[in-house]
Amino acid sequence: MAGLSDIAWILDLDGVVWLAEQPIPGAARAIERLDGLGEQLLFVTNFSALTKGQVEGKLKVCGIDATGRVLTSAMAAASLVQPNEKVLVCAGNGVIEAVEDRGAIALDPSDGVDAHGSIDAVIVGFHPHFDFTRLAASTRALHKGARLISTNNDPTYPTPDGLLPGNGSLTSALATAGQVQPTIAGKPNRAIADLALDRLETQRGTQGNLVVGDLPATDGLLAVELGFEFGLVLSGVTGAEDAATCDPSPYIVADDLEALVDEVFP
Ligand SMILES: [Mg+2]
Repeated sequence: MAGLSDIAWILDLDGVVWLAEQPIPGAARAIERLDGLGEQLLFVTNFSALTKGQVEGKLKVCGIDATGRVLTSAMAAASLVQPNEKVLVCAGNGVIEAVEDRGAIALDPSDGVDAHGSIDAVIVGFHPHFDFTRLAASTRALHKGARLISTNNDPTYPTPDGLLPGNGSLTSALATAGQVQPTIAGKPNRAIADLALDRLETQRGTQGNLVVGDLPATDGLLAVELGFEFGLVLSGVTGAEDAATCDPSPYIVADDLEALVDEVFP
């Protein structure tokens, strides 16, 4: 791949830049190198609970300046509502901010069933204080015709102590109770892919563009959706033993982001 220049890079965060809050060695150096080469970078995460300022702040602590270069599944979900729509936010602060940035009205399901009159859409995103009151208010809104939008469908997420329920589990609860199909906004789906293309000066299918991530089911399929190449790093949830059989198959596999950048630009 030598000789590529000015390509667009979509970088996943968890498993690429950090792992369970710990910076991955060499990631900041690799990003500094890409910036020095004038590459286009966009940090794209399915984690919706943090505001963009909070994500930028976490990256800054890792030594990475990501100002204005963060895209979250909260923003993707908010792109599916219209300005002035009434949105029940069964999610964290990242979704509240994104809905308000969109010019829609963010309402709190913990205020109770039918507290806010007619609702246009319910957005569900990961939040650790999900409870029956929020589920009940969301369910009532769905029964009355609100659309169900989910930030992402990951069933679980890894922690040092094992797997915990992810937003796919919360989404299933709302979809089951509301008897509706959710629209999933985050990786690898269309909403976040379209937003990423809006933010990068490139087009679907441009040769050499890369999505770098640790998870074929989200990062790899996002690459397919965008017509980009998939760069698999082994610094997250996918191990070397799985790399050979992973689907979609990666264009490039490296131990971590720094090794991958060194391979692209020897
Ligand atoms: Mg990841």
